[in-house]
Amino acid sequence: KRQNVLSVQVFPYGENRKLVLSQDITELERTDSMRRDFVANVSHELKTPLTVLSGFLETMRELPLAEDERARYLELMEQQASRMRHIVDDLLVLAKLEGDNKPPSDQLIDMGSVVRHLREDAATLSGERHRITFDVDETLTVKGVETEILSALGNLVINAIRYTPDGGAIHIHWRIVGANAVFSVTDSGFGIPAADIPRLTERFYRVDRSRSRDTGGTGLGLAIVKHVLQRHDAVLDVKSEEGRGSTFTVRFPQQRSIRQQATHAA
Ligand code: ADP
Repeated sequence: KRQNVLSVQVFPYGENRKLVLSQDITELERTDSMRRDFVANVSHELKTPLTVLSGFLETMRELPLAEDERARYLELMEQQASRMRHIVDDLLVLAKLEGDNKPPSDQLIDMGSVVRHLREDAATLSGERHRITFDVDETLTVKGVETEILSALGNLVINAIRYTPDGGAIHIHWRIVGANAVFSVTDSGFGIPAADIPRLTERFYRVDRSRSRDTGGTGLGLAIVKHVLQRHDAVLDVKSEEGRGSTFTVRFPQQRSIRQQATHAA
C-alpha cells in the first residue's frame, strides 16, 4: 500500500523508478524504528540500576542503619553507579565510532604491544581461574587505529573469560592464515545457541541477561567490536557449540596486514 501511494504521486514514469523510491522509504522507516527501539533499550538499561540506586537511597534515609550495613549499602550503590557509567561510556564510544566516517589511519599498529596488553588484561581478569595460551606471530601487524583495535580484540578476550566457567581454557591466536591476518579467541565456555549468533552484535543483545549482568557486561561490547572491524575492513566470524565453547575469529584483509620482517627486507 505504502509503495503505491508514494510511487504514483512522486514518480509516475516507470516501474524502475518506483521500485527504487519505495525501497528507500522502507529503509528510512526501518532506520526510524531501529532508532526508536534503541532509545527504548537505552532507557530501560539505565532505568534498572537507577531504580535499585533510588531504592537504596530511600532505605538509607528512612532506616537507622548500623555502620556495617551502611557500608554495605554504599558499596551496592557504587556498583549500580558504576554499571550506569559503563553503559554511558560504551554508548559514547559507539556514538563516536558511528559519527566517524573517515577511514581509519594507515598507521602501523604495534601488535606486539596490543598482544602484551591483552595478555596482562586477561591475566588480571581471570586470575588463576583459566588456562590461557597464546600462539602469536610477533612480526605480524595491521594498519589502523591502535586504541580501537586493542579495544575490539580486548572485548573478545574479556568475553571469552566472562563466559567460560572456572577451570576452562582460552586460546588466543594471531597469525597469517591463507590470504588474511587472523586473530581468534577460542574458549571452552558456555557456548552460544545457533539462533543467537546472527544477533550478537546488536546493541544490548545478550544470550543470557543475568549472566551478562553478573559479570559486569553492558551488552554493547560486540556492537563496538563490529564497528571497529568494519572500519578496518575486517570481518568477524563466530562458531560456537552450546556447552562446549566458542571461537570468535577476526580476519584482516591482505591490504591491511603486514609482516614486519618482509617490510624491513624490502
Ligand atoms: P556483554 O557486555 O553482555 O558481554 P557483548 O556485546 O560483549 O555484551 O556480548 C553479547 C552477548 O553475547 C553476551 O551477553 C553473551 O551472551 C554472548 N557472548 C559473547 N561472547 C561470548 C562467549 N565467548 N561465549 C559465550 N557467549 C558469549
